[in-house]
Amino acid sequence: MLNVQEFIDACRECGLNVTYQRILIYKSLVKTKTHPTAEEIYHEVKAEYPSISLATVYKTLETLAEHDLISKVTPLHDLARYDGDTEQHHHLVCLKCRKIIDIHEEALNNLKVPKETGFKIEGYRIQFEGLCRQCALEDDPNWEETSAKSNEDTTFCGK
Ligand SMILES: [Zn+2]
Ligand SMILES: [Zn+2]
Repeated sequence: MLNVQEFIDACRECGLNVTYQRILIYKSLVKTKTHPTAEEIYHEVKAEYPSISLATVYKTLETLAEHDLISKVTPLHDLARYDGDTEQHHHLVCLKCRKIIDIHEEALNNLKVPKETGFKIEGYRIQFEGLCRQCALEDDPNWEETSAKSNEDTTFCGK
């Protein structure tokens, strides 16, 4: 994640114009961990920049994603969701409330695929699908006790 000055420098390196709108959109994305939609960012940026349009926000996010200044999380979601964190990390996706939770876990960053695929891997992101804690508890109030027994050696988990 870049600070504002680094973001400005990175834009210039990619040949992108640095506009006040772009900075506002970037700032609004990187300060949250919710992986918001363009519309959510739009509502937030609008408070500070009332004349901005949803189309501009959407186009800006797409441009930033094309240049790897942010990333996009789309699978399982009807609307693109954006991520200001471009470090390698993985996601827990709740199938019920569509929440996306980050997992930064070194052990997941060093997976190998079988050599015979001949595939040159440039990166990957793991998406765990299931229910977040709140949704799991709504489904089954005893969920935590059951899962504590069956998953005793799970070393990572979201909130
Ligand atoms: Zn959920
Ligand atoms: Zn993320």
